[in-house]
Amino acid sequence: MSSNPSKITAIVGAQWGDEGKGKITDFFAGESDYVVRFHGGNNAGHTIIVDGNTFKLHLIPSGIVYGEPMSIIGNGVVVDPKALLDEIAYVKEKGIDPKLMVSDRAHVIMPYHIAMDGALSGHQGNLAAGSTRRGIAPVYADKMFRNGIRMVDLLEPDVFKEKLEKGYAFCKSIIEKTLNQSLDISMDEIFDTYSDYGQKLKSYIHDTSVVLYKAHKSGKSILFEGAQGISLDVDHGVYPYTTSSNTAAGHISTGTGVSFRDIDRIIGVTKAYLSRVGESPLPSEIHGDEAKMLRDKGGEYGTTTGRPRRVGWLDLVQVRQAVRVNGLTEIALTKLDILNGFDELPICVAYDVKGKRITEMPASLTEYRNAKPIYESLPGWGDLPENIWDKGYDAMPQTLKDYIAFIERQVDCPVKIVSVGPQRHETIIR
Ligand code: GDP
Repeated sequence: MSSNPSKITAIVGAQWGDEGKGKITDFFAGESDYVVRFHGGNNAGHTIIVDGNTFKLHLIPSGIVYGEPMSIIGNGVVVDPKALLDEIAYVKEKGIDPKLMVSDRAHVIMPYHIAMDGALSGHQGNLAAGSTRRGIAPVYADKMFRNGIRMVDLLEPDVFKEKLEKGYAFCKSIIEKTLNQSLDISMDEIFDTYSDYGQKLKSYIHDTSVVLYKAHKSGKSILFEGAQGISLDVDHGVYPYTTSSNTAAGHISTGTGVSFRDIDRIIGVTKAYLSRVGESPLPSEIHGDEAKMLRDKGGEYGTTTGRPRRVGWLDLVQVRQAVRVNGLTEIALTKLDILNGFDELPICVAYDVKGKRITEMPASLTEYRNAKPIYESLPGWGDLPENIWDKGYDAMPQTLKDYIAFIERQVDCPVKIVSVGPQRHETIIR
């Protein structure tokens, strides 16, 4: 059994994604018995480096790279079976025998979802969130329409055909009649190909809620791995500039079938500044030379696209919401080293919306569009002492301790993990 003293731990993003969840997950994944994803699809992405070996994963939980833990793709995740088979082949090529299970209830991304995603781009104009065009929004929509195909359905030809007839006709009609695009793949072709994927994946498909329940009852440790971040949550984020799933920890229960009562520790990964991929107002965004400096120092360029990310100062209105909605037990504050050398560090503590001070994320798009950051500036800490991670929290500069204490007071949550570099050991645990 693992040495992870807390039995069920969740790691979620407290901002816009790219907070450094990969590094924090890496801390826990190796010593967990189960590592589980609960939402999203192959639109997420993380890089894990183990013993100098780099893994780029989009769908499979990062536990896979450690060999020992069982990786589970929960029912709340949407699965592109082709992408999953490719990722399984990828980890096998890297010498890993994948210990993996996929929920029988997870919904399947079908070719018509991907086609619809492409056809939808442009449709929302300046309300578009910036889709990865992997079919994520259409598959979740189909799930709610109750047209969805689940992993288990791929294994039952009669049910699969019955559902496919409905789902295919519905999506084809939207793609061709509403969006004026064509859908070039036939239903029969999809049936054959996806039945085949089902057979190839059969040994991985399980009732993972039951598996996790039994694991928990027998004292195993479980790590839930969130993707993206709170402001991209489809309910609590800056809608409609969000992703199509719930990124909040609450979705662990519905997205895996593990009760929220059993989760001991919920860690919100928070970067010491902001970065954002995609559209939406961003009150504490910065521009010009200052932005370029922060972007370059922090390496804030898209991993696959290389596109510069938008950057800004830490926004505690956002983090406050992350603490409340996720029920964070602690914050992991990352990339503090990127703020080395600044004389002053502005932190956004509230928004000014037409003369009114607001301290919580507004639902109103008008308010959010008009939100101006209200900053408090804290003195910087120059450079961190060499090998600070060996010396512990007490050896940190007082200005950095004050900066952390300020965040804790503002959002009412302790910062227990402090990350000062990309490597595993460059971390201070309090
Ligand atoms: P995720 O999308 O939240 O999983 O973000 P990633 O884990 O991919 O992190 C983004 C990048 O930040 C990666 O290249 C990490 O190696 C890097 N990173 C994480 N923590 C730190 C840190 O404390 N300092 C620095 N300099 N880089 C970090």
